[in-house]
Amino acid sequence: MIASLNNIATKARSVFGFEREEAAVLKPQIELGSGGGLLRRKRIKVAILALLFGVVSAAIELPLPAEDMYRAVRAHLRLRPMPQDIAVVKIDDKTLRAFGGQDPGRVSDSRVVDILIASGVRKVIFDRAHADRESPEADAVFADMLRRQKGKVWLGVSPDFEIGIQQVTDLKPLDQFQQEAALAAMNGLGSPFALSVSFPTYVKVDSKTHRSISATLADYTGPETTFRPDYAFNIETLPTFRYVDVLNGDVPDEALRGKSVIISYTYEKSNDFFRLPLQNGYVPGSYFHVMGAHTLKRGVPVDLLWLPAMALAVLAIAAQAFTGSRSRRILALVALGLMAAPLVLDEFNINVDIMPALLALLAAGIGFQRINRKYFSSDVDAMTTTALSSDKPDEERDVYALKIANLSEISEDWSAREVGEFVNTLISYVKGPSEVGDVAFERDILVWLAPRMDTTELDRHADGLALMLKTAISYEWQSSTSTPSLGIDTNHDLPVALRIKKAMQAADEAAGRGLRFIINDAAHLEARNNRLELIRVLEQGLRERSISVAYQPKIDLASGRIVGAETLIRWQPDGREYVNPLDLVLAAEAGDRINELTLVVMEAALIEGKQAIALDPRFKLAVNMSAKSLSDTHLLFDIMTLLGRFDFPPENLTLELTETAKLDDDRIAPQIAALKARGICLSIDDFGTGESNLEYIEKLPSSELKIDRRFVQHMATSDESRAVVRATIEIAHSLGKVVVAEGVEDHATAAALRAMGCDQAQGYLFSRAIVMPELLAMMGGGRNAIYG
Ligand code: C2E
Ligand code: CA
Ligand code: CA
Repeated sequence: MIASLNNIATKARSVFGFEREEAAVLKPQIELGSGGGLLRRKRIKVAILALLFGVVSAAIELPLPAEDMYRAVRAHLRLRPMPQDIAVVKIDDKTLRAFGGQDPGRVSDSRVVDILIASGVRKVIFDRAHADRESPEADAVFADMLRRQKGKVWLGVSPDFEIGIQQVTDLKPLDQFQQEAALAAMNGLGSPFALSVSFPTYVKVDSKTHRSISATLADYTGPETTFRPDYAFNIETLPTFRYVDVLNGDVPDEALRGKSVIISYTYEKSNDFFRLPLQNGYVPGSYFHVMGAHTLKRGVPVDLLWLPAMALAVLAIAAQAFTGSRSRRILALVALGLMAAPLVLDEFNINVDIMPALLALLAAGIGFQRINRKYFSSDVDAMTTTALSSDKPDEERDVYALKIANLSEISEDWSAREVGEFVNTLISYVKGPSEVGDVAFERDILVWLAPRMDTTELDRHADGLALMLKTAISYEWQSSTSTPSLGIDTNHDLPVALRIKKAMQAADEAAGRGLRFIINDAAHLEARNNRLELIRVLEQGLRERSISVAYQPKIDLASGRIVGAETLIRWQPDGREYVNPLDLVLAAEAGDRINELTLVVMEAALIEGKQAIALDPRFKLAVNMSAKSLSDTHLLFDIMTLLGRFDFPPENLTLELTETAKLDDDRIAPQIAALKARGICLSIDDFGTGESNLEYIEKLPSSELKIDRRFVQHMATSDESRAVVRATIEIAHSLGKVVVAEGVEDHATAAALRAMGCDQAQGYLFSRAIVMPELLAMMGGGRNAIYG
């Protein structure tokens, strides 16, 4: 029998003085580098927790059932026939029936032993103790047999032991038997769920050492140890004989000759059945002793326990944590290796427990995956900004954000992998030249931290970097439409997490305003606040229609007469300072209120302008407008409506157009045609600057061209400017357009322009922008009153 220990709690392994090595808690000595930062710390934390989990689970033998089950699976894969030199003589149900349901008793036992030994059996071992008295006669017969067969018969014995608080007393043969026969220990130790069993090789009872049944069967003389029988011996091939058949002489001598025999109870109600996983289910305890004997004969099993596997897991997890590799291949490979190794080691009787190591690897795998999920953007295989975040400030570094505004557009035809490659190539560009650490990616923005620079240096650096990246993108991906914009945050006293947000906002803003970069410093914040304030004021002005305008006269250079005026915003919101018209226009564009602003200016101009027309029917009133607005049908409709409402003659209105963008727009041509049909004039403003070139003149059928004041003002000093002015005048005239020179501040310039044939001029020499009554007075002042 295997003393019924299979319900033992896991700790009971100490029964036989066998104790698993105490788990040494591993505390990796890890230096936290400043560079890797957050991610590295997170990974190391995961590694330590995973290893702790593995070690603790080993210490409390948590994965023992899994270990046993896997062992059983392996044994099943290695299943082989039993050697035939050990047999079981079964006191089975049929035997029991032959004895009228009774235990065969001492007299029969004696006869059976005699028959077995006469048949040439080497050893007879009883898996029972013969501890109780039968009748003095029967006991005497048995003792007599033992004396006769001395050295060939062993009786079962079982020592005292404790199972938790339960005390089980020893089980020993009667003294008269002990004197005649050797003893063999019957006890074994079951693991939880009876998935495995282990046997001692020696047991001490009453200060005498006895071999266990399996050690006796194996003629074992090796060291004292506890071992697990190898379940790879196929129980189906175990030679068994019925006790009753032996007794009746029905078993031929040849079947028994030379064998060792164990006599045991195998009848169904005997309780001496134990689980043999993956084989027959439950089998008699003696079968385990036989497997144990065969195991010992192959060599003493060596149990290396869980440490070697755990050591491998430590290496794999540490490698994973320190390399920061995102693929968990190392972990998976080591896990597979650990699964495979015992298949080989089992064959050499070497046991390693792999489950604690597998648990550690699994825990690490899950932990690393969670880090990946949280800190890596899976679509492009790059870190997310959370990976760079920190709630502490970083005095040493500036935070950069690079927005690739039309990433989704340019990547429309790309696979996720190609987008990933694109982003990763950009990341390598960013990392390339400077001391940049990790680069994160989110939406269409790359984020990184780089060493702090002083303001002027940073300006140059930012501009250069943005330009370099733009070139790189257009070169590598032939995508000239993709313009990167940089946002840089230099608020060194703010938490990095917040600065990342600010840098990303700045990048967004830079992209929105078509800037290469924006540096988020105090000056920028002030400008930003001013702009926001301006938008607020503008909205109020639009609501209250309180935005006022003034008029700068346009002078006919030949006659000196006022022939028209340009409407300019001259507005003091709430009696405060004049707002800068250019800033206001930019604010209106940013706030998407530019059309409203145009209409408010237009309305004021149309109302007052009629007075000038009353004085001079040929008077041309000019209003500034963005060419972008040309594509807006609503705006044009509103302008027409205003003209009608105030009964303003359309041929007295000139629209000065500055922006060049989107002239190719299909919607523009019909609008221009509509304006022309109404007799409204178009004027090309700021000619010579920006992209207003000859092609532009061609596309926009204007009747007037305004030479930008930059050229006009440099006429006196620069040959080049003079040449531009002269050429512009010629071209305009050859196209039948009127030429207006802006920014004329002195007589010499006016004279030079007149000599070149320029038609009209505008500038401080004649007048600044003035209110309508003044303009009317000036016009009424008569011809040649201003210029003469
Ligand atoms: P712009 O259309 O080129 O307007 C002419 C600018 O030149 C005006 O500046 C005017 O004050 C200035 N100027 C005129 N004569 C001289 C001169 O002799 N010397 C110098 N140094 N400057 C002179 P302002 O009023 O500051 O306007 C700036 C810009 O703001 C305008 O440039 C125009 O682009 C825009 N703007 C002004 N009013 C409006 C408006 O009602 N609607 C739109 N869309 N833009 C406007
Ligand atoms: Ca203008
Ligand atoms: Ca202008």
